[in-house]
Amino acid sequence: MKQSELPRCPECGNMPEFALKPNHMGWVWGGLKCPYDHYRVNLNGPAGSRAQAEKRLTPQWIELVEKVTLEAQ
Ligand SMILES: [Zn+2]
Repeated sequence: MKQSELPRCPECGNMPEFALKPNHMGWVWGGLKCPYDHYRVNLNGPAGSRAQAEKRLTPQWIELVEKVTLEAQ
């Protein structure tokens, strides 16, 4: 899934962005968040690459947005 296809932040409607940082060992840490920090999901452990990190964070973000949207109804 492309970043532009991710569900928007339920609070402000902006596209979420990846905030990923590789450490000196090459492991990637970080999360996926609203640019205004309304919501964010984080990796629960380091990922082996940026692509793997994005793959793990995407369903977490989708789940979070669904949960928030349902609770708002
Ligand atoms: Zn937001």
